[in-house]
Amino acid sequence: MSRRLFGTDGVRGILNESIDPVMAMKLSMSVCTVIGEGSNILLGRDVRLGGEILELAVATGLLNSGCRPYIAGLTPTPALQLYISRSGGFEAGLMITASHNPPEYNGIKLIMNDGIEAPREVEEEVEEVFFDEKYKKVSWNKASTSTRSVSGVNEFYVNEVVRLVDAEKIRRKGLKVVIDAANSVGSLTLPEIVRRLGGKPIVINGNLDPFMSGREPEPTVDSLKEASSVVRELRADVGVGVDGDADRAVVIDEKGTVQWGDRTAVVIAPFLREKHPELPPRVYTGISSSSFIEPLLKKHGISVVWLKVGSPIIARALKNEGGLLGFEENGGIMYPVHQPVRDSGAALALMMELLAMTNKNASELYSIYPRTFMVKTKVPRGNLDLSKLYMELEQRFEHGQYIRVDGLKIVMDDTWVLIRPSGTEPVIRIMVESLSKEKAEETLKMVKSIIEKVSKN
Ligand code: MG
Repeated sequence: MSRRLFGTDGVRGILNESIDPVMAMKLSMSVCTVIGEGSNILLGRDVRLGGEILELAVATGLLNSGCRPYIAGLTPTPALQLYISRSGGFEAGLMITASHNPPEYNGIKLIMNDGIEAPREVEEEVEEVFFDEKYKKVSWNKASTSTRSVSGVNEFYVNEVVRLVDAEKIRRKGLKVVIDAANSVGSLTLPEIVRRLGGKPIVINGNLDPFMSGREPEPTVDSLKEASSVVRELRADVGVGVDGDADRAVVIDEKGTVQWGDRTAVVIAPFLREKHPELPPRVYTGISSSSFIEPLLKKHGISVVWLKVGSPIIARALKNEGGLLGFEENGGIMYPVHQPVRDSGAALALMMELLAMTNKNASELYSIYPRTFMVKTKVPRGNLDLSKLYMELEQRFEHGQYIRVDGLKIVMDDTWVLIRPSGTEPVIRIMVESLSKEKAEETLKMVKSIIEKVSKN
């Protein structure tokens, strides 16, 4: 049996197949054992069916190991994270969510007392206790059953988000904003943020539906099709589509074009540089973000720090080393002045502030990004010798700049390519983005043939 529970962001699985209440209870006992007896642990959840059962199981496990569960109920992950880091009253948090995964999935994210997802070392400690069944159980005379509920987590969050921006100025603009809340917890905070900033929220998939029947919880061009056409047809200024736990936010411009997180970063970061001259002019992102952002940000004196893929890694670097922004191309936007984790509310408020300050349309703001072509594929990993492959590739693309933080990224003037072994499947992922369609396809073909050649040797 594999001794790994946590993926790139928490434990995930299909309910009652790979994650169930028994496992959730053992997991929460393991968490309490690692975090420490007597700890206060804040629990939140997204809308999916089964979340309440898991919440009961997690609370029971915490109690049985001597921790005190505080139940916040339905709340976005960033709201739970902010409450943990600001209130100072909790040693950790557990968010019951499968984030962007389909509705049959559920999961658990472990949040540390600084509001950031647990680092890998802590996850490993929890996994060891879990698999060796070394979790503590309190003696009979300490077996308390008191769970407490915490109200006001979402209100606290909305207040803090609204405080981040020049609300007066935004109010004068009266922005019309489409929100696609994925039938989940984003609907509890985002429309209120728009209202508090004097805007007009138009909400789709805004009903709390445990089956999440409105759309796939992952914000993609396809799942945001309806939101895009609503933005266009109702002549909204901007749209935002979130995932199941509302940490990721993907922006839709007024023409209905879905704009990825790395593009949003290119638009927001120069604005933040002016807003916060006290912050180091740096941004942090995973290696899979587009390399075309680098020259665009450089023009504004902003440097890019490339990191391994995974939002907790980006969040910790941003917190420890300081900068303007952290982001992922999938829509995770981290604004460290607020909190250094993915936060849909902060992304939305900043976007509204930017529109109010510049007097430009969203599409105009994004038009600084060139028209590009992206191709992605994966090939079986087999017994491929990765260092040999990288050597071959570096020889073939001798005029490129190489970045080796996670796989190999080769950056050329008009094209970049990323070759990276997957963390979850036995495959090599290949991504190519180019200013020309032909060049993108040609580069992909070339990389595949080099992989084939190295596999044969
Ligand atoms: Mg998420």
